[in-house]
Amino acid sequence: MLLRVENVTMSFDGFIATNNVSLNVEKGQMACIIGPNGAGKSTLFNLITGHLTPTEGKVYFHDQDITGQAPHTICQLGMGRSFQRTNIFPRLTVFENVQVAVLAHTRKTLNFLTPTKNMVQADTFSLLKDVGLVDQANSVSGTLSYGFQKQLELGITLASDPEILLLDEPTAGMSPQETTNSIALIERISRERGLTLLFTEHDMDVVFSVAEKITVLHQGAVLAEGTPENVKNDPDVQRIYLGEAA
Ligand code: ADP
Ligand code: MG
Repeated sequence: MLLRVENVTMSFDGFIATNNVSLNVEKGQMACIIGPNGAGKSTLFNLITGHLTPTEGKVYFHDQDITGQAPHTICQLGMGRSFQRTNIFPRLTVFENVQVAVLAHTRKTLNFLTPTKNMVQADTFSLLKDVGLVDQANSVSGTLSYGFQKQLELGITLASDPEILLLDEPTAGMSPQETTNSIALIERISRERGLTLLFTEHDMDVVFSVAEKITVLHQGAVLAEGTPENVKNDPDVQRIYLGEAA
């Protein structure tokens, strides 16, 4: 099992945001976490990536206990994540943003004899190509459309050469067209690179078209888990989603 979350609980001064959650993600799987606003999706992501330390429970990556490790340590082990809000330097160009991320990664993996500059340039261009931003390479990042900014963020995340991608609401705030393009891009890149994907998403069309496994969170706890078909037909899931709409 690539990622294993075991009985994780997160209490914020007595408020239980994550309640005894267990979750497994296999290598190569496309797994999705859904649930109403405030269900604890982002908190669970933060517990997995080291941005929060659980009050109870364990997180394992490659069978290694990573509970309470620093985010950069977990990132180096091969876990890449994007945030619900974009995380780019708005005054740098698109190229510079990706280059900074590539540099941050290569510094850790190369020695001083490697001709870093050319390699970094080549890697940066290759990432821009992957995420469809070659034409925008010299644009100031802050001026990009929202959809392009999210593509850039994906490029930045991929620069650390992750094995698993954690995407928190990757299509939040996107137009329907941007959503379609962005999901197609994420799916293509994940398959090409053999990446494992764990994402949260509010658009059910996206969830059911991409996810192989869905975990439903409700009030911090796992309400249901299974294939899209199982989850769609689960009476508890139908109740909370219908309850929300009512
Ligand atoms: P989701 O991403 O599913 O919308 P969150 O994980 O952001 O939900 O939040 C789950 C619950 O935990 C919410 O009630 C939220 O207010 C609470 N929460 C999240 N982060 C904190 C925090 N740092 N301190 C206190 N409460 C928090
Ligand atoms: Mg959230």
